[in-house]
Amino acid sequence: MVAKEIGDLPHALENEDELKRRLDGRRLAVFLDYDGTLTPIVDRPEDALISEGMREAVRALAKRCVVCVVSGRDRKVVQELMGIGDLVVAGSHGFDIWSPGEGKIQHNAGADSGGVLDEAKARLKDEVGSIEGVLIEPKSVSVAVHYRLVPEGERPRVGEVVDALLAEYPDGLKVTPGKMVYEIQPKIDWDKGKAVLYLLEALDLDAETTAPIYMGDDITDEDAFEALDGWGVGVFVGHADDPEVADRSTSADYALETFEDVESFLDSLAR
Ligand SMILES: [Mg+2]
Repeated sequence: MVAKEIGDLPHALENEDELKRRLDGRRLAVFLDYDGTLTPIVDRPEDALISEGMREAVRALAKRCVVCVVSGRDRKVVQELMGIGDLVVAGSHGFDIWSPGEGKIQHNAGADSGGVLDEAKARLKDEVGSIEGVLIEPKSVSVAVHYRLVPEGERPRVGEVVDALLAEYPDGLKVTPGKMVYEIQPKIDWDKGKAVLYLLEALDLDAETTAPIYMGDDITDEDAFEALDGWGVGVFVGHADDPEVADRSTSADYALETFEDVESFLDSLAR
């Protein structure tokens, strides 16, 4: 695998013919990140609402092929935000998977990690909860500490508390930095890439007959781009000149810059 610069990625819509040739007549399975991919990144996570146009595009596509939303959010929150019944939804970075055909898809990753996570939730609430602007979002298998609204001078303090907590549980907890958020998860060998491969298998989708497309904007989506390298197509969503993606290399194959682009691309896949 060759890591690429985000600025060098070809545009998915402008190179649609080439992209579709790669799919090679296989049936599509489309994996979508939620925040930053289907909706703009906002100051408060609860305000990240999907537009009616985007929802329609996803709904139409879900009638044509398997569509799965893979998010760091809790699965039930994603289901509510999407409001579409026939979607596969993988919440909590893929720890919690539900499909319309089978209901909850069981797997063991994430089991037995409740205790240390509860401890982390309580500690974070005590230790950074009082810093102005910090938003702590407890989730079923992780806890997110958002600092977008924290005054710049205070942000290092948030990082220090997170670092100290992690240092205490070197085998129990890990942190995944995102866009102005620390996502603290149980230290289990599991990520969006493993979730996507697990889903493909659970849904009986194999490499010969299925072409997976994964679309995402954040660093956690890189695991999924990498997992599908050589099999599917990875589409990075965002601007190469966004300071939050500066210095990042990517395993995606194409890029889409705006949500209008994403919507048009989903429309085109549904045709
Ligand atoms: Mg995202």
